[in-house]
Amino acid sequence: MLRLPRFKYLRPKTAREAARMAADLGPRAMFVAGGTDLFPKLKRRQFDVETLIGLDFLPREIRNGSNECTVGAGVTLAIASTDAHLNKTFSGYAQAAGLVSSPPLRNAGTVGGNLCVDTRCNYYDMTYEWRKAAGFCMKKDGDICLVAPSSSRCWAVSSSDTAPMAIALDGVVTLIGPDGERELPVSALYRDDGIEYMAKQPSEVVTSVRLSAGRNTRTAYVKLRRRGSIDFPIAGAAVAVQLDGDDVVACRIVLSAVASHPLEATAAEVFLKGKRVSADTIRETADIAAKPAKPLDNADLSHFWRKRMVRVVVEQALAEATTRTAGSTVKLLGRNPD
Ligand SMILES: Cc1cc2nc3c(=O)[nH]c(=O)nc-3n(C[C@H](O)[C@H](O)[C@H](O)COP(=O)(O)OP(=O)(O)OC[C@H]3O[C@@H](n4cnc5c(N)ncnc54)[C@H](O)[C@@H]3O)c2cc1C
Ligand code: SF4
Repeated sequence: MLRLPRFKYLRPKTAREAARMAADLGPRAMFVAGGTDLFPKLKRRQFDVETLIGLDFLPREIRNGSNECTVGAGVTLAIASTDAHLNKTFSGYAQAAGLVSSPPLRNAGTVGGNLCVDTRCNYYDMTYEWRKAAGFCMKKDGDICLVAPSSSRCWAVSSSDTAPMAIALDGVVTLIGPDGERELPVSALYRDDGIEYMAKQPSEVVTSVRLSAGRNTRTAYVKLRRRGSIDFPIAGAAVAVQLDGDDVVACRIVLSAVASHPLEATAAEVFLKGKRVSADTIRETADIAAKPAKPLDNADLSHFWRKRMVRVVVEQALAEATTRTAGSTVKLLGRNPD
């Protein structure tokens, strides 16, 4: 049985206090929200920390406007996935939250933790003993990449389900740091780097995410994974399409699990904007969207097959978003279209 290492647990009362603690303690401390990602990783010794800073003060409310919604970072994925307003107005977001891991983990895992969740790789998400035997890599304890040995960077995969959907919904996070508060678009929250994957300061706490959508915007999230009951995405598509009748006024298409950050398919967005929705347009858009996705051999199943499936998940997400009647409740089913 894997055991947690010893650590000190601090319990700040506010985000500012937590941020100050993190700034003082530096890299030997980490925030913990639901702990659903952090605790298994601590057991596998993927982080060396002496102190965990608890975030149980984070807001757990969902505030609704007509075309806007602010979700507190402490809201659990289970609550986000079943919230009536999210299901009605931002159904793709509720759908993405409901497809994260499994019911017990969604009861503890938070919206903020999902935005900040570590990148993944088959050579890194292993026990200490496995990694020692295989040879450590540069993400932890080593100095080379075992997936791409000639590469100077880490290609671990961004595996958050809700981050791509938050980007598609023009999401903006509130960050509280030791010296103040700021807002940042979720699209600017990530870097294309498997190790330093977040663009925020390590001491900044995510306290909420604000989603917005223009009138008559339809959304959908389609996720590919081996087991519909628990696994991380190995490809996914988050789409938000604003319609005027059958014409596309605006659209966002963001891919999960095919790069070290959520990957926006901008060429496909440009192609679809102004077009009339049809099976042919959707197919052509999906072909264009899949082009920038370059999965490597460091996640579940064959990366050649995952690359081919990107087109499929985009096509399914666009079809689902554009044919769903406004306000319908999404069935929270995992899909594995293989
Ligand atoms: C078996 C298994 C399957 C999983 N499947 C999926 C999946 O399908 N999709 C998916 O997206 N995730 C999956 N996860 C990962 C995890 O359960 C979720 O991402 C969850 O939302 C993480 O939230 P948390 O509150 O538990 O975060 P924690 O584990 O507490 O923290 C995760 C990271 O975020 C940081 N952090 C947390 N909250 C904040 C905050 N408010 N501000 C700043 N930093 C913060 C922590 O320091 C840590 O680095 C899975 C995990 C397991 C163990
Ligand atoms: S992509 Fe390379 S460096 Fe990054 S975790 Fe995997 S093996 Fe390690």
